[in-house]
Amino acid sequence: MGKPTGFLEYDRVGNGSVSPEERIQNFSEFHPPLKKEERVRQAARCMNCGVPFCQSGENFGGMFSGCPLHNLIPEWNDAVYNGQWREALCRLLKTNNFPEFTGRVCPALCEAACTCGMNGQPVTVHDNELSIIEEGYAQGWMQPRIPAVRSGKRVAVVGSGPSGLAVADQLNQRGHSVTVFERDTRPGGLLMFGIPNMKLDKQVVERRIRLMEAEGITFRTGINVGVDVTAEQLLANYDAVVLCCGSRLPRDPAVPGRDAQGVYFAVEYLTAATRAVIGETDEPAISARGKQVIIIGGGDTGNDCVGTCIRQGCQSVIQLEMMPKLPDSRAENNPWPQWPRVCKTDYGQEEAAAVFGKDPRHYQITVKEIVKDPDGHINAVVTVLLQPEKDHASGRMVMKEVPDSTECLPCDLLLIAAGFVGCEPYVAESFGVARSPRGNLQTEAGRYATEAPKVFCAGDAHRGQSLVVWAIAEGRACAAEVDAFLSKY
Ligand SMILES: Cc1cc2nc3c(=O)[nH]c(=O)nc-3n(C[C@H](O)[C@H](O)[C@H](O)COP(=O)(O)OP(=O)(O)OC[C@H]3O[C@@H](n4cnc5c(N)ncnc54)[C@H](O)[C@@H]3O)c2cc1C
Ligand code: SF4
Repeated sequence: MGKPTGFLEYDRVGNGSVSPEERIQNFSEFHPPLKKEERVRQAARCMNCGVPFCQSGENFGGMFSGCPLHNLIPEWNDAVYNGQWREALCRLLKTNNFPEFTGRVCPALCEAACTCGMNGQPVTVHDNELSIIEEGYAQGWMQPRIPAVRSGKRVAVVGSGPSGLAVADQLNQRGHSVTVFERDTRPGGLLMFGIPNMKLDKQVVERRIRLMEAEGITFRTGINVGVDVTAEQLLANYDAVVLCCGSRLPRDPAVPGRDAQGVYFAVEYLTAATRAVIGETDEPAISARGKQVIIIGGGDTGNDCVGTCIRQGCQSVIQLEMMPKLPDSRAENNPWPQWPRVCKTDYGQEEAAAVFGKDPRHYQITVKEIVKDPDGHINAVVTVLLQPEKDHASGRMVMKEVPDSTECLPCDLLLIAAGFVGCEPYVAESFGVARSPRGNLQTEAGRYATEAPKVFCAGDAHRGQSLVVWAIAEGRACAAEVDAFLSKY
């Protein structure tokens, strides 16, 4: 513990934030880091408590809280306070392969469980983590670590999102030769095409890919496994295959008029926006410029769509959420260190409030029908209000339509951000891997080997749509199992 009284002396100070009015002028990241002296004070707020819940990654009250990677948070906070930045980096990299990703996009499950947060403000764990890794890059400490000995074993990883990258990194460091197959134009999965540039600059993803290449990992982009390369070919050429192909099947609201032009899934829209930002296309293939946009889904992906639409110059934007609004502060039945089930106003919603004068979210409402013009293009949606009611058969609360509550809202771009229903079946089918009733690749609980010989899986494809930090955690655990299999322990 760097400074025993740090948490009493210093208030929490997070990274800065460029004003909404200014940041919507471009797609750049907008959280400038603190000066080093202030960062050190923030690290000093860590109390190194007897039971550091921050690094627990435990299920409290039905939801995970604390870091799923079990990052050694009090240790690196102590090192930062004492000016031992390189030591802090070593401790951070012991448990987290990619702190530059989590330090930008992780919702900080650690901070929800920080003891300082019981009756005050938690330690700025997430921002401290980002400072440590960025200091590592700035000082030139992030050099390729090339394995001294190769095992002679070959591993194919299908998909280059954070889970595939973590599997590849871990197995490469164990001396196995890893090839990552990616069907998209660039590696990174949702880190590259999904999460917008203002949350995670794509140069940050490319910087890591270049480092991994220098360490000996091969990336083969533009190859759709199961289509361009068969499962049999991969199994014949590699000692193990790891499927990290994500949970990419979007939930599709089957409403009348769904075939209208101008209706897109969120990831399709966000991908097109990023392709234009990074110069793959001159203009985004789908643009919100001048459009009245409605987004189905009040969650994080919907929020990313709001921020992107505003940067593209939409005329208006509304987010429709089926569920009731969450309370502004923790309810009595949701105490620390449980994950706080509270209403979060994210960057896109802040920006919508700044531009249009109000929060874009409408609660307890859904789309009942899509209205088309004579050319088949969307021009409105019919919505209906919902209210929670107990379903007597199951005993669960369900959202029921409120009679006579329909409304017609003008709309010329409808984005569907209603979640995902599992991994695409063709990869599972080509490798003969069963899918669970939730659409995920099936393994024994807590394991990563599938029933198909030599075939493993990790990340969203295995766990269901989740978070970057969980994808990395799954990738690490899966790699340990693959390594044991290859090394015949
Ligand atoms: C819009 C959006 C924003 C998000 N924002 C955040 C956030 O801010 N913070 C956070 O923690 N989480 C966020 N998430 C969730 C997070 O991105 C995912 O949980 C995480 O990326 C899952 O990693 P993964 O490696 O399992 O899969 P993915 O990142 O989905 O990567 C899978 C990869 O496999 C490739 N692939 C699939 N099939 C094949 C095939 N047959 N052959 C070759 N390649 C294939 C895909 O092209 C893709 O590149 C967000 C999700 C979305 C959709
Ligand atoms: S990875 Fe996420 S949960 Fe873990 S320490 Fe970093 S910000 Fe916290």
